[in-house]
Amino acid sequence: MSFRLTYATMFNPPEAMHERFEAAMARVSADLGRRHELFINGEDRPAANHAQRRSPIDSALSLGEFALANAGDVDSAMRAAHAAFPAWRALPVAERARLMRKVGDLMEERVYDIAAALTLEVGKNRMEALGEAQETVDFFHYYADDYEQNAGYDRPLPNDPLEGTVSRNRSVMRPHGVWVVIAPFNFPFALAGGPVAAALVTGNTVVVKAASDTPWSGRLLADCIRDAGLPPGVFNYVSGSGREVGEALAQHPLTAGITFTGSVGVGMQLLRQMAGGAYPRPCIAEMGGKNPCIVTENADLERAATGIVRSAFGMGGQKCSALSRLYVHDSVADQLIGLLRGKIEAIRIGDARSRENWLGPVINDSAYGNYAHYMQQLQSDGATVVAGGRQLRDGDLARGYYVEPVLAEADLAHPLWKQEMFLPIVMLHRYRDREHAMRLANDTDMGLTAGFYGGSDEVPWFQDRIEAGVTYANRPQGATTGAWPGYQPFGGWKGSGSTGKAIASFYYLQQYLREQSRTVVE
Ligand code: GLU
Repeated sequence: MSFRLTYATMFNPPEAMHERFEAAMARVSADLGRRHELFINGEDRPAANHAQRRSPIDSALSLGEFALANAGDVDSAMRAAHAAFPAWRALPVAERARLMRKVGDLMEERVYDIAAALTLEVGKNRMEALGEAQETVDFFHYYADDYEQNAGYDRPLPNDPLEGTVSRNRSVMRPHGVWVVIAPFNFPFALAGGPVAAALVTGNTVVVKAASDTPWSGRLLADCIRDAGLPPGVFNYVSGSGREVGEALAQHPLTAGITFTGSVGVGMQLLRQMAGGAYPRPCIAEMGGKNPCIVTENADLERAATGIVRSAFGMGGQKCSALSRLYVHDSVADQLIGLLRGKIEAIRIGDARSRENWLGPVINDSAYGNYAHYMQQLQSDGATVVAGGRQLRDGDLARGYYVEPVLAEADLAHPLWKQEMFLPIVMLHRYRDREHAMRLANDTDMGLTAGFYGGSDEVPWFQDRIEAGVTYANRPQGATTGAWPGYQPFGGWKGSGSTGKAIASFYYLQQYLREQSRTVVE
C-alpha cells in the first residue's frame, strides 16, 4: 500500500491514508503548547519575545508559543548565511542535489505529521494539508533533479580563434549570495520549502521568514533541514511580523535576492526596494490572482460544476489560484447555477480535523471580518446572492472562523469584480458573445490562473487569448487550482508575478543564478 499522495488518492483517499492522518493528528495534538524558537546558524536561537498562537479551527486550541524575531535576530541570521555562502557555493552540483534529496526524503517520512500541523495551523482539510506537504517533498526532488540534469546550467560555448590564439569560452551560472524567502500563510510549508530548495540547490544560502499567522510550518521546515545535516548557516529561519521582520530583511545590506509570495501591495513595494539602493537586486514576487473561468454552451456542465466548486471554495478561496470570476454562456447559465447551488449546499463546513468536513475555517479574525464586509457590499450594491453568505456561529463553530461559500450574480460595474478577496466568494456573469467574455476575463491587472469548460475545438481559442500564466481546460480536478511540480509550471503574468517564469519549470532555477561568461585565451 502506497501512502504517497497522488491525484488519484487526493480525491479518493484509501482508508489507510485516513488512519495514518488520524494517528498523526493524535500524536501532534498531544505535543501542542511547546515553545518554538528561531533557527540561526545551525542552532535554536531563543528570542526575546514570543506570541501564543491559536488554531483558526477553534480558539480554545493553543498551538504553542512562537518566537518573534527582532532586527538583531535578522542581522544574526543574515550574517550566518553570508558566512556560510563561500563553502556552500563551492560544493559540487551533485553534492548539493544529494542534500536536497535527503531533505525531501526526511520530509516524506514526516508527511503525515506535517499535514496534521498544517490542518491545525491553517485550518485546511486533511487532503489539502497532505497535498501541500507532499508537494513540498516533490519540490526538493524536482529542483535537485533539474539542477543536476542541466549540469548546473553551465554551457560550453564554441572556441573562437583570433590572431593565432584560441579562446576557450564557457557560460557558467553562479549563485547570488544570501537569498531571502518570505512565505505566505496559505501554503506556509510549500511556498517556503519550494523557493528554499531552489535557492539552496543553486548554491545560495537562505534566510526564510514565515508569515505571522503560520510560524509553526516554517519551523517544521527548519527541523527537516537541520536533521538532514546541512552545514550551519546555510539555512536560517525567522518568524515575526511582516512590517518588522520582513522590512528588516528587505533593507538588509547582505540581502542578495528575495522570493516573496503574498499580496500585490507588499510585492510591488519589495520590487521597488530591490530596484533601489546602489544597484538592482533580483526579486521574484508571486502575487495575487483574480482568476476567471469561462463556460461555453458546449461545456460538460457537471464536470464544470465539479471543477468550479473545488477551485472557488477549496481552502475557503484562500489560494492565489482560486477561482473568483465566472463567465457563463446565457443559454446554460441557469442549469450550471442549479448544479453549483446543489454542490455548494452539500459542502460540509466545520472542524477541519474531521474527515467529513471539506471546508474548514478562514485564517483569522481579519479574514472573517472581510467576509462580512464583502457580503454587505454585494447585497447593498444589488448583487443577487445565489448561495451562501452567512458566518457560522452555532455551537463549537463560534470559536472558529467559519463562513459559507458564496455564489453571487453581480453587475459588471460592481467593484468586487476587480478586488482579490481571498475568501470563498465567486461572482458570476452571463454572457452572450464569447469575445466579450474573453475581454472581461482579461480585464484585470492580474494574470495567474484561468479555467475553461467548452468544446475541445474551442480550447485553442481560450489558451491563445487568455492572459494568464496557468491555464486549464475541461479539468474536473479544479478549474483553476491544483498545479503540481513537474506537471503544471505555476507562475503569473501581469500583477500576479514579477518574472514571467513559473515555479517548477525549466526556467525557474535560472532566476536564482547570475551568468558569468568565462573566456580564457591559450
Ligand atoms: N499551487 C497552488 C495551486 O495550484 C496555489 C498556490 C498559491 O495559492 O499561491 O492551487
